[in-house]
Amino acid sequence: MKNTTCIPRYAKHDYPIFIITAFFCILGGCATKPPHESGTFKQTDLIELIKLDPGIKLDIRYATNNNLVGKPVYTEARAFLQRPAAQALVNVNQELKTLGYGLLVFDGYRPWSVTKIFWDITSKENKKFVADPQKGSKHNRGCAVDLSLYDLATGKEIEMTGQYDEMSDRSYPYYTGGTEAQHKMRDLLRTRMEANGFKVYDYEWWHFDYQDWQSYRITNIPFSKIKQ
Ligand SMILES: [Zn+2]
Repeated sequence: MKNTTCIPRYAKHDYPIFIITAFFCILGGCATKPPHESGTFKQTDLIELIKLDPGIKLDIRYATNNNLVGKPVYTEARAFLQRPAAQALVNVNQELKTLGYGLLVFDGYRPWSVTKIFWDITSKENKKFVADPQKGSKHNRGCAVDLSLYDLATGKEIEMTGQYDEMSDRSYPYYTGGTEAQHKMRDLLRTRMEANGFKVYDYEWWHFDYQDWQSYRITNIPFSKIKQ
């Protein structure tokens, strides 16, 4: 679909990410470390999704220029979740397979430093679309996933009511605009995910939190340091 009110492109110019980040740090003060968390947590056990199920397709936009930053923030196009969440996602993918669809994953575990970049470049009115780094994101805990559907027959992404990371009301999971076909696909994704322990985020049809997210710490290691 044509996207007329899509994401503001904050960084279309060619400045590297670290310069952008440094600029906002100077302006607003810079917390360079994740918040301290006390309590008991489960051991981080991040699993690469395609190793569990190669039928899960990836479109890791944050490793490309096609994202809300306009520059890659990942050096590797990979997706990870904590083991129980990853297994639940495989169950969803297997269920969808019988209907002719597969999961198309945009992002899973996200290092805390990337959440910080997103927060710093996002305008005040659009902050509901990004997580506050002082609280951390469920992506940082390896328990949130951004995804859509693809058609198993054609390999093409299924059209939803809005695009991934679009900052408009078309992103709301209960948005009533759009076509009947778009609603049907968006709601199919949500019902299958919610039947397997995930919950949709109120402002984004593509974002789902796994039920056990409180059990895992905020993490800030790059993909290359994840032990498999
Ligand atoms: Zn998300």
